[in-house]
Amino acid sequence: MTKKNNKQDCIFCKIAKKQTPVKIVYENDNFLAFLDMNQKTSGHTLIIPKKHFINIIDLPESLGSELLDAIKRVAEIRLKEGAEGFNIMQNNGKFAGQVIMHAHFHLLPRKKGDGHEHYSI
Ligand code: 5GP
Ligand code: ZN
Repeated sequence: MTKKNNKQDCIFCKIAKKQTPVKIVYENDNFLAFLDMNQKTSGHTLIIPKKHFINIIDLPESLGSELLDAIKRVAEIRLKEGAEGFNIMQNNGKFAGQVIMHAHFHLLPRKKGDGHEHYSI
């Protein structure tokens, strides 16, 4: 997990600066939540810090409560829409499946019989 990725050409930095259009679900001062362009379950949302941090190790603890706020607010929105549960997934490093080297959290709304039981560990 090296710091080789630079923020100049980071797609999530462009999204955070509203230079690339996305469907915003929620935002607070330091986090933005938007629909993943590849919906693994209906309502699949990404929660990203607005500043460029590479992974969870890079993310300062001081942002923890705002991160939790953003995750919970998105989850509440999806539960109100009819989701029956949700998974939070987060990949760190390319060998763990991280493709975009700007820290992000996947929120995957779940429903009974949705066919994605493999998201459970
Ligand atoms: P990772 O594998 O890095 O945890 O997941 C990256 C996620 O970002 C993928 O689910 C992918 O669909 C999503 N993604 C990548 N580029 C864009 C984009 O430009 N817009 C949106 N909305 N999602 C993106
Ligand atoms: Zn970035």
